[in-house]
Amino acid sequence: MSQPVRVATRTTGAGELFQLFRNGSARTRAELVRITGQSRSTIAARVDSLLAAGLIAPAGEASSTGGRPPTTFAFQSDVRVLLAVDLGATHARLALTDLAANVLARTYATQPIADGPESVLTHVVTAGRDLVASAGRTLTDLVAVGVGLPGPVEHSTGRPINPPIMPGWDDTDVPAILAAGLGTTVLVDNDVNIMALGEHRTWWPGVADMLFVKLGTGIGAGIISEGVLHRGAQGSAGDIGHVAVPSGAQVPCRCGNLGCLEAIAGGAAIAETLAREGLAARTSSDVVALVRSGDHAATRAVHQAGREIGSVLAAAVSLLNPSIVVIGGILAEAGEQLVAGIREVVYRRSLPLATQDLQIVLSKGRENAGVLGASAMAIDHVLSPAEIEALIA
Ligand SMILES: [Zn+2]
Repeated sequence: MSQPVRVATRTTGAGELFQLFRNGSARTRAELVRITGQSRSTIAARVDSLLAAGLIAPAGEASSTGGRPPTTFAFQSDVRVLLAVDLGATHARLALTDLAANVLARTYATQPIADGPESVLTHVVTAGRDLVASAGRTLTDLVAVGVGLPGPVEHSTGRPINPPIMPGWDDTDVPAILAAGLGTTVLVDNDVNIMALGEHRTWWPGVADMLFVKLGTGIGAGIISEGVLHRGAQGSAGDIGHVAVPSGAQVPCRCGNLGCLEAIAGGAAIAETLAREGLAARTSSDVVALVRSGDHAATRAVHQAGREIGSVLAAAVSLLNPSIVVIGGILAEAGEQLVAGIREVVYRRSLPLATQDLQIVLSKGRENAGVLGASAMAIDHVLSPAEIEALIA
């Protein structure tokens, strides 16, 4: 996983210097002096403090043109561990990763989010502790927990706010509850944002402008702009599921409005359409299974849903000019028919300059994008210059 490298300036400490190691490069003291412009003695002291904290370690000798070859140092990503938690409507997926997002252990359980915060968060604490132990680590090694929730999350507090499919969760202090059980910092975001982050960091790290779209019962998007996840003022940026579809079908939505994208093209909406035609479809998974079995009505319905989604994404493409749109979520498992419908409308409804190099592709992370993103969110926090300084102190 690569990270944007921030170049330390003369006034910064070991936390800034550490950022130069995050992309995995092995570096010599002389190289650090050259990059930062800091004195040899300053660099030596900061390298020593990073060595003492175990964040970097000697990584062999650099080639030399004569004399004693200089020692190189590299990031020790296994010095601490992180817990990544992806909570969905019906599942809890947990992964223990190192500081470079390498997965050390993972676990999956069927866990309805509608069971409420006490039951679900107790499960997360128990499963999280078990996972730490199963990897031969202790809770003192655990430096952060990243969590994705299937509903709107206020970014400043990590609390879900009026989440439609999470009864009993409104305004729950998820970070405080998990921190009490796991003894470390907890960061929370909505599931779409963490999937966008996981997909971007793992498979498209070089792409500056990306839109990730999650298609399931609900529909949402995560926005990566200039390489950074954008959450908006409150954390609800990218919530495109309740944008009115231009075709104007007056279908009631669970949010109380009519004609929302989700109410027309979400997995449950497609299943309902198919059920009216006499097919056994109730959920997004049923729709995917029908498409995969070659059912014509299901294939046609998914293609049409793709067009409706495309009409809203065309507006998003016009606003954001991404170079890639990644389609994920359970409905993405229906594959190319869905993407074909999306492409058809996005390419027709956006200006040529916005679409000439635009790629619209299926998610590579699939069901793992969430935990990888939760890990990335936690890593960004833990390895920030301020947190590194605190760790060293
Ligand atoms: Zn709605």
